[in-house]
Amino acid sequence: MDALYTEEERLIRNTMREFADAELAPNAARWDENEEFPWASVEAMKRMGLMGLTAKPEHGGSGASYAELAIAAEEVSRVCMTSSTTLLAHLSLGVSTIDRFADGGQAERFLPAACSGDKIVAWALSEPSSGSDAADMQTSAKRNGAGSYVLNGSKIFITNAEQSGLIVVFTSTDRAKGHRGTTAFVVESDAPGIEMRGMHGKLGIRGSGTAEIYFSDVEVPAGARLGEEGDGFRIAMTILDSSRVSLAAQSVGLAQGAFEAAARYVQQRETFGELLKERQAIQFMLADMATRTDAARLLTRRAAQLKDAGLSHNRESAMAKLYASEAAHFCVDKAVQIFGGYGFFRENPVERMYRDQRITEIYEGTSEVQRIVIARSLLKDYAAA
Ligand SMILES: Cc1cc2nc3c(=O)[nH]c(=O)nc-3n(C[C@H](O)[C@H](O)[C@H](O)COP(=O)(O)OP(=O)(O)OC[C@H]3O[C@@H](n4cnc5c(N)ncnc54)[C@H](O)[C@@H]3O)c2cc1C
Repeated sequence: MDALYTEEERLIRNTMREFADAELAPNAARWDENEEFPWASVEAMKRMGLMGLTAKPEHGGSGASYAELAIAAEEVSRVCMTSSTTLLAHLSLGVSTIDRFADGGQAERFLPAACSGDKIVAWALSEPSSGSDAADMQTSAKRNGAGSYVLNGSKIFITNAEQSGLIVVFTSTDRAKGHRGTTAFVVESDAPGIEMRGMHGKLGIRGSGTAEIYFSDVEVPAGARLGEEGDGFRIAMTILDSSRVSLAAQSVGLAQGAFEAAARYVQQRETFGELLKERQAIQFMLADMATRTDAARLLTRRAAQLKDAGLSHNRESAMAKLYASEAAHFCVDKAVQIFGGYGFFRENPVERMYRDQRITEIYEGTSEVQRIVIARSLLKDYAAA
């Protein structure tokens, strides 16, 4: 893996690994077990400058590349998926949307507190009746004279919502125009008329916050609109393309964590008078886990490098997210198998990894949606001239 990285990237990897092992790993099981929001992790990630990592320095960020973000996301996810979900929903969705699409005044107003992590940003696209089909939006924003809009509707499954200071919310300003009528706003989470209801009982990433958001006649100044009316769908799709790079990295980290746990366990577990590591069946599992993890890392790095070069990465980020999440699925499954009965119990981290993995094939576009994105893009290349 080392040969993949530049000297500077290796330094980031090593620093992030030490940080994650020292500050996140010791609490990961507790956050999961108690469904406890990882505030200590947020504080630690703030100190590390992670909350505004890829935002522009003039906006209070660190100006890191997506290749660097992928390394950081991998290391956090290797030990704590609750922490990486919290971080990535804030950074790759929330902060990135404002960093990229805010005008000068909006950037000045919203980004310093978001990049420092003092205000966590939630990103609200999904609705009860529209997840994969994000264009079919019910939440409305109606003009209230020239100076403001009034928002009504609800969002569901929103990461960090209850913990947030700001929400990037996607609304319909003109239902008749379909996705061309989607408009994005940055809303203060404590604005009158906003109500949150926490959603509990998740299978995995149990410490991360997930909530429904209700908007009842929420007045939002026109100055909080990102871009023009109708730009919202393009904004959401642009951000999902880049955010999927970081979610691919999340899966790579999880797969790597499962592999490392299994590779250590086989050194000490004996069956039939021999260590597990001597069994070819076990060696083959480890070889397949490492190969898929590496392939996923390479796809992720390619997508990150395209994004960093300002090139189209729609197909490549979908490929990376699809492949990496399925590689993680394979790796956590094999890790539990290698641990045998011990892998089936809470005190073993691979049990948590097994549950945490499942969301990677669902959020920010299910695996079916990634395949739709990839196929559409491929078929365009072969369309009759
Ligand atoms: C823990 C968690 C955190 C989340 N965080 C956020 C967040 O911060 N912000 C946010 O906006 N959203 C968030 N989501 C929502 C998430 O992105 C959606 O759940 C996801 O996009 C799927 O939408 P859905 O649940 O409505 O499923 P549906 O769209 O109803 O899909 C159901 C099934 O049908 C399949 N399917 C749908 N359409 C097609 C098709 N055309 N062809 C083939 N198969 C299809 C899907 O792949 C899936 O298997 C989160 C979800 C969870 C569970």
